Amino acid sequence: MKFYILTLFPEMIMDGLNTSIIGRAIDNGFIEIEAINIRDYTLDKHNKVDDYPYGGGAGMVMQAQPVYDAYQAIVNRAGHKIPCIYLTPQGKTFYQNMAKTYATLDEVVLLCGHYEGIDERVLEEIVTDYVSIGDYVLTGGELPAMIMVDAIARLVPGVLHNEESTTQESFSNNLLEYPQYTRPETWNGKKVPDILLSGNHAKVDEWRYNMSVERTRKYRPDLLEDN
Ligand code: SAM
Repeated sequence: MKFYILTLFPEMIMDGLNTSIIGRAIDNGFIEIEAINIRDYTLDKHNKVDDYPYGGGAGMVMQAQPVYDAYQAIVNRAGHKIPCIYLTPQGKTFYQNMAKTYATLDEVVLLCGHYEGIDERVLEEIVTDYVSIGDYVLTGGELPAMIMVDAIARLVPGVLHNEESTTQESFSNNLLEYPQYTRPETWNGKKVPDILLSGNHAKVDEWRYNMSVERTRKYRPDLLEDN
């Protein structure tokens, strides 16, 4: 899967995503990430990409032309249109099943705003989906884009090794994951639950399921209502 990220801060994206599991997925060719600097496409002789908002008010607004030309350059190179997600607090809130759907795409463009956002007219022209990562306002779309890439990329076949399976984790079957333990058997006077040491896989599965339901009921009862 290829992620194109339109941003004013490409180094922030690449620095953030080139490590650990996602970095390994890039190295092994399971995913590709190209961060494109919107500023490279400005026609302004002073390299400007933003201007004051019509109607007044605080802050600056990213101009339509560089954003449009940066997106068109990707489309021209690919030879076809590519879904374009604008990261915005006004979008639909990102969740696990959305990540699963996006993980089936071959290519996607993530558009990061900054300042007060982007001129509405270019959004109307190129954006296919509006996605928020939560009900709070950040300074830019770069962290949201990185969150989306991480959540989507780990669902792309081959990115996780078998032992890092995604089928049993939180939000699969609308449940939170059961508690996890590793060595030592006793730490700080607390012992690992006996059942996990029993070697009885059926009993372990049953215990884990019950723990999943219990903690979902405690921390996220809304997930159980969705069942
Ligand atoms: N003026 C905009 C508003 O009130 O809706 C907020 C602009 S915000 C300061 C600047 C940029 O950060 C946005 O264009 C968007 O790309 C990104 N951003 C901020 N919060 C976000 C969130 N919760 N989810 C996704 N993107 C966000």
